[in-house]
Amino acid sequence: MANTDIPKTMWAQVLEQYESPYRLQELPMPTVDDPNDILIKVDAASYCHTDAVLASGKMHPPPLPHIGCHEFAGTVVSVSDRSHGLKVGDRVAVPGRGYHVCGKCLECQNPSGPVPDDPGYSVYCANTGGGLGVGDRAGGFREYAVVDSRQVAIIPDGMAAVEAAPLMCAGLTIYAALRKCELGPGRRVGIMGCGGGLGHLGLQFATKMGLRTTGVDVTPQALELARTLQTGATIVDASAESAEDVKRGMGKEDGGASLAEMGLDAVIILPDSQKAWDYGMGLLKDGGLLVLVSFPPEGFHVSADDLVFRRIRIIGSLIGSNKAMNEMFEFVVRNDVKARIRTYPFAKLNELVDDYHAGAGGKLVVDMSLKQ
Ligand SMILES: [Zn+2]
Ligand SMILES: [Zn+2]
Repeated sequence: MANTDIPKTMWAQVLEQYESPYRLQELPMPTVDDPNDILIKVDAASYCHTDAVLASGKMHPPPLPHIGCHEFAGTVVSVSDRSHGLKVGDRVAVPGRGYHVCGKCLECQNPSGPVPDDPGYSVYCANTGGGLGVGDRAGGFREYAVVDSRQVAIIPDGMAAVEAAPLMCAGLTIYAALRKCELGPGRRVGIMGCGGGLGHLGLQFATKMGLRTTGVDVTPQALELARTLQTGATIVDASAESAEDVKRGMGKEDGGASLAEMGLDAVIILPDSQKAWDYGMGLLKDGGLLVLVSFPPEGFHVSADDLVFRRIRIIGSLIGSNKAMNEMFEFVVRNDVKARIRTYPFAKLNELVDDYHAGAGGKLVVDMSLKQ
């Protein structure tokens, strides 16, 4: 059903060249061509490290002009009879992935992951043609967006759009990575990069899952953010303490007799640096699990000793299923998990980007309701 109040044009923040600022442009209103799709008015759009990577053109460069943002939230303004129960006025949160999945490939028929979706839908579909805001499909840095009604989640009552948006990539990614650790309460998990956008949410999720949590970071800003959250996690300054010392500290508490028996059951690597990898690897007990979330272009050096003699297992993790997304929302509401956010008017997206590159902590989010 079309909403007659929808204007003919809208404003969007457009990347016209790599390594250059976004430019505000007036564009025609996007059209809804697929019956599964809905039109939303964007209320909040959150900035992710991947937006910075894409804008640099150095990895997975998107075709230009590009409209980024793959974690956003909005209000439904038009639906069809195949919108899966969504109504005009519903508030929805949108992850970048899961747009136009084929429903027929092996992955769609047998979805993978710790919290798989029902057969017929997988965010890891091989034929999806790219996510919103990451390839040639426009994302949330615009006033209106066409999204797939199957990919969105209803925002829980009482949660603001600016709180929901950063959960769609950062929140879901770290939540799914923690679920992939498959650890019960009382086990030990580490988060490398605990003061960043994903890390500070990870500290909250992990401790509220009942995991004994060690957060590691290096910059004073990030350590400060991690400490002020007061999650009960042990916060470690990697520039002041060696991984081995931290591990021995854990061994003292746990009663491990040798270094091989001391340390974390699992560690999640969020930073791009080899140093973070080595430190996290050093914190693991033998037989532990390393969950990799970052993807620097140069990759990582992996020691064969760690894999063969120390029996370390390594897995990668990219975002999470729709079921995990809904599970995360329930968890967030039940445990009062909150992203630390700093909001910006839409017209000041480039200011947001500058602050991001200057190392601002937490999540930086465009709030469409803010006037400049
Ligand atoms: Zn992201
Ligand atoms: Zn598929």
